[in-house]
Amino acid sequence: MPSAVKVPRGICKTSPKSALAWDSRICYIEWRCNWLVGHTRNCPVGWLPILEQAALAIQQTNCTDFVTLSIREQFGDFVWNVETQSLEAWNHVTFAKQRALTTCSVCGTSYDVEYVCWGGSRLTLCDACDELSGPQIMDRMYPAKRRLGIS
Ligand SMILES: [Zn+2]
Repeated sequence: MPSAVKVPRGICKTSPKSALAWDSRICYIEWRCNWLVGHTRNCPVGWLPILEQAALAIQQTNCTDFVTLSIREQFGDFVWNVETQSLEAWNHVTFAKQRALTTCSVCGTSYDVEYVCWGGSRLTLCDACDELSGPQIMDRMYPAKRRLGIS
């Protein structure tokens, strides 16, 4: 199990603060790592930096068989289903999932983060985001849905 992921140069370590910034980062990471295409937009905003860093780390391995089956948030956990024979790539995915456990899925902070019961489910939120209303949380977590008017 790797204890740290070296962050590639030029990669923002914080989550995007606007839908426009979010969109350009999605486009960039999907261009760099075309095996993510179609799944990145399902990643909560707060976890996007984790996904970006892991994806670029995987891209730097010699792995050629990496396939992303799905990316989503489920009951507060970061779900990233993949297929690969590369142990190194697999470790990057596992480490990303572990980091998400202590990272707010809305704002990306790792301060005062815990599972929060939320509408019969649960989310991984910091204290500040836990104060937001349900629609505010969903708006910030998924900019694409906000822009498309999907609730
Ligand atoms: Zn937060």
